Amino acid sequence: MRSPIPDYLNQVLDTCGADGSGELAAYIPELAEADPDRFALALATVDGTVYGVGDDEVEFSIQSISKPFAYALALAQHGLDRVLEKVGVEPSGDAFNELSLEVDTGRPLNPMINAGALTVHALIDDETVRRGFSAFAGRELEVDEEVFTSELETADRNRAIAFMLRSHGIVEEDAQEVVEGYTRQCSVLVTVRDLALMAATLANGGVQPVTGQRVVPHEVTRQVMAVMATCGMYDAAGDWFSSVGIPAKSGVAGGLIGALPGQAGLATFSPRLDRHGNSVRGVQVFERLSRDMGMHLMEVPPPARSLVRGRTALPGGRPGHGWTYELQGSVNFVGMERVLRYLADEPPTESTVVLDLTRVHEVRDIGRRMLIEAVRRLVLDGHQVTIVDPEDMLEAFPDDHADGDLDAGDGVAVPVLRRR
Ligand code: GLN
Repeated sequence: MRSPIPDYLNQVLDTCGADGSGELAAYIPELAEADPDRFALALATVDGTVYGVGDDEVEFSIQSISKPFAYALALAQHGLDRVLEKVGVEPSGDAFNELSLEVDTGRPLNPMINAGALTVHALIDDETVRRGFSAFAGRELEVDEEVFTSELETADRNRAIAFMLRSHGIVEEDAQEVVEGYTRQCSVLVTVRDLALMAATLANGGVQPVTGQRVVPHEVTRQVMAVMATCGMYDAAGDWFSSVGIPAKSGVAGGLIGALPGQAGLATFSPRLDRHGNSVRGVQVFERLSRDMGMHLMEVPPPARSLVRGRTALPGGRPGHGWTYELQGSVNFVGMERVLRYLADEPPTESTVVLDLTRVHEVRDIGRRMLIEAVRRLVLDGHQVTIVDPEDMLEAFPDDHADGDLDAGDGVAVPVLRRR
């Protein structure tokens, strides 16, 4: 069978391709020369499959899409607290190049506007940027020297911002050098396939889906995607998050990325921009994808069925019966809260209790801890508890074959069996 996904993505390009409105970014002379009709879309899954359609091998400068990745590298290098001292996380409601700082602290409001991005850039060196961006993309990326020179010649507004940052003591480095480094960062060449993989690395918790390299720590990606969700589309961020609902970032060369946590990275390229500096057709493609594929993060999932219970034969061929609780779906906080409520309201009436995880597909850390606490309390109440965990969701097995024990604390060791 031929996968229908590229056909679908091509169809999305066809239907969104007709709109010729919007303008090229004229304030950077080299960008004003771009072919306005280029159009591309790529989707990268967190297990490393990339689908690309249209002009998916055409390179363009990354521009402001560099901001979330530079922010990620700064967070990885300095930690959240140090970075927060310099740059906030509040949406500004202003244009990307506004000369604005927070009133009481003098910090830029967020790392997605230029003031914040210049400050972030001053925290990392050029080599970190080049190596880091290449690691996110999974290939060596290069700078477009023409775009770099062209923007640097006309970068007075960014110089003004950098000097303003210095005057507030937020940036201590040489203002001209910071602008130069930041402009270089914006001039890195990428394709939509690169961008989709870079976004997928964020969506995958910091591990590049194809190379398997851990690029940034897991907790960094949550911070970055949260800031993309609230500030990534500048003064259109609220509109964007309500209609599309995907953490995103746009760039003035016409690129646009979205990172869907745990699922995929998306990227489009179409150079004509709306008045916010976001790609006109890129926004349309994202609206369409979000609607068609149910990608809006605030979409409410169907309710989880978390527990069934009954009296069954004991596992492992042991004689007798036990009171079995069969857990289902995700063992997260809400799922385990239900289990704990059942156990508290209607305590098991037999001394032998079996917790069966056969139909569980995911165990979150909080769910694991709640489950272990439930086991500990059942044992202290005088029950004999056994866990059935064929997929080793609790990571209790010493190797692939043997049954194991779960240390529930207070000297309580609970047998964990591979099969019912
Ligand atoms: N390099 C551009 C600038 O600083 C990036 C802006 C953008 O992509 N929104 O003006």
